[in-house]
Amino acid sequence: LTDKTPVAIQRIANDDVESAVFGALDLIGAASIMREGMTILLKANLLSANPPERAVCTHPAIVTAVIHWLKQFSPARIVLSDSTASISVGSTEKVLKVSGLKETCEREGAEAIPIEKMERTIYTVPDPLVLKSFPSATLIGEADLIINLPKIKTHNLTILTCCIKNMFGTIILGQKPKTHVQFPLVRDFEKALVDIYSVSKPQLTVVDGYLCQEGYGPSAGDIVKLDLVLAGFDGVALDTVVANITGVPVNRLYYLEYAEQKGLGTAKLDGIEVRGESIEAVKHAFKLPKGSTIGYYPVPLPRSLARRLGPALMKATITFDPKRCRRCGTCWKNCPVQAITPPASLAEGNVPSWNRNKCITCYCCAETCPYEAVRLNANIAKNFFTTWPGLSCVATLVAIIVVIALLAYFLL
Ligand code: SF4
Ligand code: SF4
Repeated sequence: LTDKTPVAIQRIANDDVESAVFGALDLIGAASIMREGMTILLKANLLSANPPERAVCTHPAIVTAVIHWLKQFSPARIVLSDSTASISVGSTEKVLKVSGLKETCEREGAEAIPIEKMERTIYTVPDPLVLKSFPSATLIGEADLIINLPKIKTHNLTILTCCIKNMFGTIILGQKPKTHVQFPLVRDFEKALVDIYSVSKPQLTVVDGYLCQEGYGPSAGDIVKLDLVLAGFDGVALDTVVANITGVPVNRLYYLEYAEQKGLGTAKLDGIEVRGESIEAVKHAFKLPKGSTIGYYPVPLPRSLARRLGPALMKATITFDPKRCRRCGTCWKNCPVQAITPPASLAEGNVPSWNRNKCITCYCCAETCPYEAVRLNANIAKNFFTTWPGLSCVATLVAIIVVIALLAYFLL
């Protein structure tokens, strides 16, 4: 017996997802938390309307396997839900349909309901880091069991999206951009993620590591067939293991540090008992998103300096690919601070324009563009010489050199 948190890693062999899911859940003894007649909420990733092969939403094969496993315990009700990244009414229904998850639920006798279509409750965050309360589905508080079903993807803002980030979807449509506006600095936003996770803290998590995304994730990245399923009771530990598998810098995932501080789980490998495959055996370095230097410093900087330098120097420039853009309007309708304006004419070849000064780098535009036309590029050197923190550093340096030169002239 050990007091370490168990995390199971199972390989998916020959696309047999069901055996991997059952195997992972057995390895952590998940049956111990099950009883008959439960109301179970499956929190899937329903980011945007993409088919399973694009690896944006939780894969239907993972959801099917989890439902099959749950049926052994005769649940009263299984509800699959999420709220998509777009603010448009009806967008989550569209995602359910295109992702194949509506059909999966209908076939398996589960319900597929967008969070925004459920009865709502205002939840008070216990010991909030930054976010005191938020509205979400009443079912989050009433379900006997919440099972988190995140997918492993890189993410332009948070570098990695998996267990903790997936619960951001419990916030309803328009509340998401509001949260980005409220917490424009990445560290504060990640504190808000932890606050949201602490309200709905899932008792069980099954990670979809079947088809994943690297690079421009979480919706326009390249596909990685990782062929893994992970399971555990502690989402913080699972995120830590996933970061180690994918080579994402763990010290950049601030939300792990904050979640551990808040007592939501362990972010230290020596507190985790990995069962099944070892991390070493399944390691696969993911390409990181180009804007991923945001808020990440290879050397520790004083917090006050980092807060001022980070957003300006590490800010990604957003451009729109004229070959891909179809001027659909999704980006400018979803931008929470109106930093994107439509082109004067919707003729082919024209693209929206981006206002650097208004942009809070939430990357909702990249997440919601249906045609993967939004491009991000963080040019730190250019930012340094074109933004006031960089210019003020240069000015300070020049002033110091001038003072030294004057002193040397008059004193020597
Ligand atoms: S960049 Fe994408 S979301 Fe924006 S108008 Fe073009 S296609 Fe639509
Ligand atoms: S332009 Fe894109 S990244 Fe910037 S605030 Fe708008 S949606 Fe967010």
